[in-house]
Amino acid sequence: MSKTVDEILKQHVLSKEDIVKLLQTNKEERNKIFTHAAKVKADYVGKKVYYRGLIEMSNICSKNCYYCGIRLDNKSAGRYDISDEEILNAVKFAYESNYGSVVLQAGEISSPKFTKRISNLLKQIKELSNNELGITISLGEQPEEVYQEWFESGAHRYLLRIESSNPELYYKLHPKDKKHDYETRLDCLRSLQKVGYQTGTGVMVGLPFQTYEDLANDLFFMRDFDIDMCGMGPYLEHKDTPLYEYKDLLMPIESRFTLTLKMISLLRIIMKDINIAAATALQAIDPIGREKAIKVGANIIMPNVTPGMYRDNYKLYENKPCTDEEAADCTNCMEMRIGITGDDIGYGEWGDSKHYAKRIQQQP
Ligand code: SAH
Ligand code: SF4
Repeated sequence: MSKTVDEILKQHVLSKEDIVKLLQTNKEERNKIFTHAAKVKADYVGKKVYYRGLIEMSNICSKNCYYCGIRLDNKSAGRYDISDEEILNAVKFAYESNYGSVVLQAGEISSPKFTKRISNLLKQIKELSNNELGITISLGEQPEEVYQEWFESGAHRYLLRIESSNPELYYKLHPKDKKHDYETRLDCLRSLQKVGYQTGTGVMVGLPFQTYEDLANDLFFMRDFDIDMCGMGPYLEHKDTPLYEYKDLLMPIESRFTLTLKMISLLRIIMKDINIAAATALQAIDPIGREKAIKVGANIIMPNVTPGMYRDNYKLYENKPCTDEEAADCTNCMEMRIGITGDDIGYGEWGDSKHYAKRIQQQP
């Protein structure tokens, strides 16, 4: 006889079959998963949310991921590259708002000039915040020396999503060429761990061709890779991208949303002490989507502090929330929003991954 959801959740180790079953639960049953994950979160990382002020510094990208609205070949994306001065102003805003950390994210550019520019920015961020701001970067695949240089310049967390841990699916999402090589992506994740970053990865949920087995394997991938942080969001189709062709294969957007929440909860149950972000893409579906993620296991939120005039053009997907608002508008409602989750806000704290601290201690 097959196990009930309660029986599965009581086990210490979940099998792939268990996870596939949990991912397919109905409304009543999925609430059991959410409640269980909320308890794990409270026990292992506490009912506390940490802020990372997100700066989308440029939408110029040298790659052609099939799903992304700012891919190189999308000629209808208006390109921008925010000046260092404006970036530092946004950083200052995050610092003065007591956010504790910032994230620098951009399309993927690899050049000695870009490397230098980022190194300088990192040093300046440290300087203007008296070394107080924590820095996460998400700047794609780079040679290990570049990761090393940025680490030494002040970044201590890195986000690089594997997007899908199934190589076959990966190549349905990316061109099959040297620039989009699955093995290279894995090597980059290994380099990040080796250099010493708190290493974050994640996947998109609800992709065309993606199966429940794929998603279960994605969770196991993150466990086996021993990641410290995760950012996982629903896939949102963008009409100016090649993957849009397969939009009829997609599950309804509400189902992608719920499935993402289940993935977040299950990851919290499997990897109890990591940091899990409430992805911005959740908010494109539900105005309080990120807050819902916090209630079921996430503990990181990334308020967007990109200057308003640029925000409209960082369109990885359509329906991006708050693109017409200045950062301050968002800040006012942030506190109220987190209030509904019942969690505290870790103002001025880095909120580093507890998993990372343990991983480092255990190293020989
Ligand atoms: N260029 C960097 C960082 C910017 S893209 C990189 O690729 O790592 C950040 C993330 O946005 C990607 O990892 C991807 O998972 C997500 N993303 C891109 N297009 C998306 C879409 N259409 N729907 C949902 N998420 C998307
Ligand atoms: Fe560029 Fe990142 Fe978008 Fe890929 S996902 S096209 S690397 S910005």
